[in-house]
Amino acid sequence: MSDCLFCKIIAGEIPSAKVYEDENVYAFRDIQPQAPTHILVVPREHIESVAALDESNSAAAARCLEAVARIARQEGLSGGFRVVSNAGDDAGQTVKHLHFHILGGCRLVDKMA
Ligand code: AMP
Ligand code: ZN
Repeated sequence: MSDCLFCKIIAGEIPSAKVYEDENVYAFRDIQPQAPTHILVVPREHIESVAALDESNSAAAARCLEAVARIARQEGLSGGFRVVSNAGDDAGQTVKHLHFHILGGCRLVDKMA
């Protein structure tokens, strides 16, 4: 997707603060952190959101969640963390490339919405 921000970040066309990468996944620090640790985990494959997942592409999401667990250990989030994936306008999804927010490093607010 030539006009996708996260595809451009994955391709190195836009700089990012990388925390992890492998053949399927790229992860970097959110530019506007909402917690002491705020990392975005994205599949290299362009998938619009969780709403676009099916049996043909769900392995990419599974690889992302495996990376989430690895990154949480790497970042020392032993006290816990939250994983969020906004899908669609009602959820406030601003970048239409599937991503999982890792939020942690403090006691998070109890309400999720
Ligand atoms: P969402 O609102 O769930 O679509 O999340 C998109 C996230 O991308 C927001 O938390 C933004 O702060 C973050 N973001 C936007 N542009 C960049 C960028 N260039 N580098 C890192 N994070 C970004
Ligand atoms: Zn993309």
